[in-house]
Amino acid sequence: MSDLNRPLIITNSSELQSYSESLKINGKKIAFVPTMGALHKGHLSLVSKANEIGDVTVVSIFVNPTQFGENEDFERYTRDPEGDFDKLSGYKVDVIFTPEHNDIYPDGFKTYVEVTGLQDCMCGLHRPGHFRGVTTVVLKLFNIVKPDYAVFGQKDFQQLKIVEKMVKDLKLEIEIVPMPIIREEDGLALSSRNKYLTKSQRAKALILSKALFSIQQNFEQGCKDVSELINIGKKILTDNNIESIEYIDIRDSGDLSLIQNAESGNLVALAVRIGETRLIDNIML
Ligand code: AMP
Repeated sequence: MSDLNRPLIITNSSELQSYSESLKINGKKIAFVPTMGALHKGHLSLVSKANEIGDVTVVSIFVNPTQFGENEDFERYTRDPEGDFDKLSGYKVDVIFTPEHNDIYPDGFKTYVEVTGLQDCMCGLHRPGHFRGVTTVVLKLFNIVKPDYAVFGQKDFQQLKIVEKMVKDLKLEIEIVPMPIIREEDGLALSSRNKYLTKSQRAKALILSKALFSIQQNFEQGCKDVSELINIGKKILTDNNIESIEYIDIRDSGDLSLIQNAESGNLVALAVRIGETRLIDNIML
């Protein structure tokens, strides 16, 4: 890590709670970026935004076990703290929070938070318990970091909506700041899971954004029928041998409800599996 930026690395939640409290007493606005590490330019765009809107930037790195299903990739999820610290050294990060499992989930931990409704579609259907794990850890991190702002990527659009709803329903005094998806030059949305892909799978993964952009193009050319638009996307996926499509949906981007006639501002979202790797992507019409 360069000398330009030496963030405080805090591993203990009580220590961070006291530190955050002292910052708040001094009138500092805290901007928070929760991550699971394996950082890429998508994460770093959130860090830049946090720098811009807050006085103090806190980034957490924690691979949260409760958001992974039994047969999911918790064990093999990339953990590269040194690499992550190095990437963050190019930014003004004041605190990196890297808690241990036992700090977040001590023995006897029994409390979970759920946003009902919004979690019952899309990724929620295919990853039972996933969003319950997300909201539980995010609320806990919010209580530790005490942010004024929390920056989330639209890459995980359903997660963003669920966190916004939790903040609203529980009257948390935190502004959720959404950020657009960062993509590779060829269109593939950046994801920590792209690392799992072989060369040929990486080529296949490109079809996800191609399918989404093609739906967008057809919409712009006048096709408003949701089932027709979805079939256009599906055909591109299957024609390119992507057989394992979990879902491809067009929904209201506010409440994630299904719609029949597509309108500007609607969400087009999909999840597929390429080999063992689950990938998600979305665009806004
Ligand atoms: P993760 O580490 O995957 O839990 O993601 C942490 C945050 O980074 C979430 O708010 C994600 O939505 C966001 N994120 C992940 N990939 C991207 C991307 N390609 N562009 C923008 N934000 C992203």
